[in-house]
Amino acid sequence: MALVVESIAVGTELLLGQIANTNAQLLARMLAEQGLHHYFQSTVGDNRERLTQTLHLALGRSDVVVTIGGLGPTQDDLTKEVVAGVFHRGLVVHEPSWERIRGRIGAASTPNNRRQAEIPADAEVIANEVGLAPGVLLAAPYRAPGSEEALARVVICLPGPPNEFGPMVRGPVAQYLAALAHGSGRQAAIQSRSLHLAGVGESKAEHLLQDVIADLDRSGGVTLATYAKPGDVEVRLTAHAPTAEEAQALLRPVEEAVRARVGPWVYGTDGATLGGATLRVLSETGRTLAVAESCTGGELSAWLTADPGASAGFLLGAVTYGDAAKRAVAAVDAGLLAEDGAVSAAAARAMAEGVRRQVGATVGLAVTGFAGPEGGTAADPVGTVYVGLAAPEGTWDRRLTLRGDRAAVRRRAVQESLQWLRRYAVDGAAAMRPGNDG
Ligand code: ATP
Ligand code: MG
Repeated sequence: MALVVESIAVGTELLLGQIANTNAQLLARMLAEQGLHHYFQSTVGDNRERLTQTLHLALGRSDVVVTIGGLGPTQDDLTKEVVAGVFHRGLVVHEPSWERIRGRIGAASTPNNRRQAEIPADAEVIANEVGLAPGVLLAAPYRAPGSEEALARVVICLPGPPNEFGPMVRGPVAQYLAALAHGSGRQAAIQSRSLHLAGVGESKAEHLLQDVIADLDRSGGVTLATYAKPGDVEVRLTAHAPTAEEAQALLRPVEEAVRARVGPWVYGTDGATLGGATLRVLSETGRTLAVAESCTGGELSAWLTADPGASAGFLLGAVTYGDAAKRAVAAVDAGLLAEDGAVSAAAARAMAEGVRRQVGATVGLAVTGFAGPEGGTAADPVGTVYVGLAAPEGTWDRRLTLRGDRAAVRRRAVQESLQWLRRYAVDGAAAMRPGNDG
């Protein structure tokens, strides 16, 4: 099993909510990157008894305890004293650190600055390049009160100021923990894999995956979590193993099992975006795209160009907001606009065909609708959006009824349009037949 590390942040300020525990977050991130186990985080005030109690609790269950803060020169800085007490030893002055402190503050030094140079007997110093207080590393046997058993434990004490804490955690502390894990054969790796789904809700996705999740709970090693963002579900697999290769090997069959159940909705992995992934399906097969959008105001084009390399497939994105623009840029017939209106299936089809022709794209995509809060008609209330798609095989349209405020309608319109385009790009015209576009 990988090393187990936990942190104790010391400071009444944290408990009063005056500052956020960003140091613990930074430490947590480093531990996760190294694949070390991190089961507990505590925060305790500047109080001897409670810090002592918390240290005992942590040392009883974790190999390494990192304390944060309380290394200053004043009476309420008691971390080192408490650590020394828990290990039944005294504090001794670390001469090189005391030299350094005097060198830095000279005549301004006061007797209590000497406290900052004190470390528990047999401890080592972790250099603090920024501030005065050195970090402390004590690797020693630990006996819980009333117990004879000696546990091999490490306590690392780091200063609270983030500009001191950060470099120490990322540098010497990370190196020390990696070496410790390696030396004891307890190194570990975490590998994760994200599958991005569109067109399916989180609860449905989780329902379809419930047998996979139950199997994982039984076998261990890999965990599965779903995260829902509006219109987008992420299924995240995380594997723990001694090496990255072994963790990857654990992930592979689970990813296959997930794809077997929700494959049709998966549009990409890891950092994929719906727009980028959709465009890639077109451009990888040598097809190009032009877009005319009205109520989405450019958001559709923005999503399609989210990933680098979009120019290989994306030829034109026009925001044809006014009727004149629909006529000029997307070559929509004035009579059609007068008869059917700018928010209509006919207008969406004509915009898609027009913009496609305009730049000779393989596919034209168009969106027109009522995003609200005002506008709409009795037949087509706010939230009604028409999408048109023109391709070599034909032209299709869809009518969407979307809920939510203006921003939500626009976002949903973009997502639905992209999912529809993706369906065409992957499955071709057969997927676009009337009655098959819901
Ligand atoms: P000093 O020598 O400055 O007293 P110290 O090691 O005793 O340092 P603290 O007194 O606990 O550390 O904290 C010093 C400052 O560092 C706090 O005022 C706060 O701004 C910041 N700090 C302390 N702990 C944290 C934390 N866990 N996360 C983020 N910032 C913190
Ligand atoms: Mg302090």
